[in-house]
Amino acid sequence: MTWIQFKQWLSELFPRIPPGLEDAFEAYQRQLARRVAVVGAVAVLIILPAFQSIEYFLYDDPELLSLRNALWRLPVMVAALAILALRWWQPEGNWPRPMVLLLGFAMVFMMVGIFANDKVFEGAPIQYTSQGLIITLAAVSVAATRGLRDVPIIYGLPVLALPFLLLLQGASLGQAAINLLYPMVMVLVACLIAELIYHGNVHSFMAHQQMRRFALTDPLTGLLNRRAMEEELKAARSQARRQEQPYGLLLADIDRFKRVNDTQGHDVGDQVLVELAARIRGMVRRENRVSRWGGEEFLVLVQNSDQTAARQAAERIRHAVRSKPFPTTAGELVITISIGVAVADGSQDTGETLIRADKALYAAKQGGRDRTETG
Ligand code: GH3
Ligand code: MG
Ligand code: MG
Repeated sequence: MTWIQFKQWLSELFPRIPPGLEDAFEAYQRQLARRVAVVGAVAVLIILPAFQSIEYFLYDDPELLSLRNALWRLPVMVAALAILALRWWQPEGNWPRPMVLLLGFAMVFMMVGIFANDKVFEGAPIQYTSQGLIITLAAVSVAATRGLRDVPIIYGLPVLALPFLLLLQGASLGQAAINLLYPMVMVLVACLIAELIYHGNVHSFMAHQQMRRFALTDPLTGLLNRRAMEEELKAARSQARRQEQPYGLLLADIDRFKRVNDTQGHDVGDQVLVELAARIRGMVRRENRVSRWGGEEFLVLVQNSDQTAARQAAERIRHAVRSKPFPTTAGELVITISIGVAVADGSQDTGETLIRADKALYAAKQGGRDRTETG
């Protein structure tokens, strides 16, 4: 295996989120954390009271260990209740991740505390607590929605606290050190689990993104397709309503495009479409949306734009198209477009606004082409 192959293997194993997708990944992670938090909270609220009852009623418990254990369990149950309360009162927001960390932290701390207690008191069912510690570490590492980065926060403090707790309860220094060994090994295993699951999540996120991209872009021009643009139009309308700002729709259609196809062939026609897409894209600001609405029709959404601004944007695009011939494999072709413009505010239906843009486009064609009309 060469160095390059090794690096490629590593980057496949540990994929990074490409720049630009961080926000989408953040939202995805938050959704995941919310599910993990709620499932974890419900599990905690079933399992811990069950353990508490079993210990209290079934074991011969001269030292009243079950009451000591209840003290360690309390913070976990409070965190679980807080998660369910937040889920109820604040379904959105940034709480899921901190709450998952807090719950994980409280769980590990609980097991470490119970473990330390049981180590010191004779006759305590120590094997159950160490099994419990392993199960908790595994559960918490599954819940670590950020992989390795969550681990120091969740495990670091409780595990470091273990020797101190043992010392406090009368263990010798040597005993305390030996008892740190197993939790440390388990933390390593937990790191591995957390990291593998995190990268599994990155993989499925990327696959999801790729599918979204395929579903929403036009393969020839790379612009938004009609389906994606319909979503954008809906969003634009609600934004216009919230901000009380109008927006503009520009519907552009190539003039006499059939002639290009008929004389130069469909391939050359496609090259014209690709170049036109790039020119329109280059003439509008980033926040505006450009789509291939139909075969040789392009729809541009201009945010926060009144009639004058929308018309100016249309004229800029029209000039960028007509001013320079299009390079194709069949030589340079002079291309012109006609544009229909319609402006709407949040109160107007997008379907009707589109019809106005279409009528304006028709008027531009009727008026002799290579022009902009407003509807
Ligand atoms: P007008 O000025 O009235 O718009 O004349 P036109 O010839 O452009 O008429 P129209 O808009 O009706 O023509 C649409 C043509 O666009 C028909 C079809 O051959 C061509 N077309 C549609 N989609 C594609 C495509 O993906 N590639 C190519 N090469 N041509 C396409
Ligand atoms: Mg057409
Ligand atoms: Mg046309």
